[in-house]
Amino acid sequence: MFCEHESDLEPAPPRTPEGCEECLRAGGAWVHLRLCLTCGHVGCCDSSPGRHATRHAHQTSHPVIASYEPGERWAWCYVDQAEVDVPADAMPYLR
Ligand SMILES: [Zn+2]
Ligand SMILES: [Zn+2]
Ligand SMILES: [Zn+2]
Repeated sequence: MFCEHESDLEPAPPRTPEGCEECLRAGGAWVHLRLCLTCGHVGCCDSSPGRHATRHAHQTSHPVIASYEPGERWAWCYVDQAEVDVPADAMPYLR
């Protein structure tokens, strides 16, 4: 679907390509990783104990995340509550 929030994005490279930023700091574990397409924050998914991707989105109002799992190419807009296409600009930053 069309997501107007994506048109404002200037995707940034992952800040912590090796894993979830908060979990790395706290020594926690994650299940899947998500990349914030506004600032490059890497956070863990809602199946992970920390749910840091969603927490980051709510704290910062950064609207769109993409999957940071190898080979996965989808994005999610928290405002639209819908799956959206990965912007071409963000493709090089995915795994
Ligand atoms: Zn949107
Ligand atoms: Zn985490
Ligand atoms: Zn962010």
